[in-house]
Amino acid sequence: MSELRVDGVSMHFGGITALDGLSFTIGSGQICGLIGPNGAGKTTLFNCVSRIYQPSAGSICLDGEELLDVPAHRIAGHGVARTFQNLGLFPSLTFLENTMAGAHARGRGGYLGSILRIGQARAERELRAEAFELLEVLGLADLAFLPAAHQSFGTLKRLELARALAARPRLLLLDEPAGGLTHSEVDELSSTIRRVRDEFGLTILLVEHHMAMVMGISDIVVAMNFGEKIAEGTPAEVRSDPAVVSAYLGAP
Ligand code: ATP
Repeated sequence: MSELRVDGVSMHFGGITALDGLSFTIGSGQICGLIGPNGAGKTTLFNCVSRIYQPSAGSICLDGEELLDVPAHRIAGHGVARTFQNLGLFPSLTFLENTMAGAHARGRGGYLGSILRIGQARAERELRAEAFELLEVLGLADLAFLPAAHQSFGTLKRLELARALAARPRLLLLDEPAGGLTHSEVDELSSTIRRVRDEFGLTILLVEHHMAMVMGISDIVVAMNFGEKIAEGTPAEVRSDPAVVSAYLGAP
């Protein structure tokens, strides 16, 4: 279980202030939904945590470790995995191979370390067994040996989750997971996310426009506008907060 602490994070693009001293904490094992109108700064924060961007000020700590000192290509080895809005899967590879690819992100602490310890053949077998277990957890075991191409978007979203979990993260970043899904796929994905959170003890940061999903699965919600936090609390508290209502509907 892991705590994420975002403290005074600011980010500028030329003259635009995308994040303005943003601070919030996600407790161990919590799901935090980050909401806000278009341009609020959600993606920018997400990209700062996943180390694609370097903020101009502030601190982002996972269990006390400063993530801003970690380069993007090493972030998985420090316990952070993410999914992408447009899926980053390999269509010609099987479900199993796509999931195994996620474990390579662990670097020396994962597959590479295992090769050095127990040799390539055993490391490969262990990796396959672990990836297969993840596919079982996500209800995808029957598809293990099929290529990822030509599957429904909802199924591929679950595969992307399996691949992210193969990196054995403590913090999982979900980038608009509901995008492009049908109502029933959103419901299914929501219960899957909660289940993997419980099973793997994950802390989750979720950026999402689908309000029903965010309010349904989050333990806490952080609402942003113009790069600042405008509300924070339980889904019920944030939904009825006047600043949030006005940010979405415009001032009365
Ligand atoms: P959306 O919900 O539309 O994805 P968002 O809340 O994710 O919006 P951001 O994409 O983080 O918002 O954008 C915050 C602000 O920073 C906006 O004003 C945006 O135009 C600006 N911005 C974001 N990325 C860049 C960039 N790479 N270069 C310049 N400006 C940027």
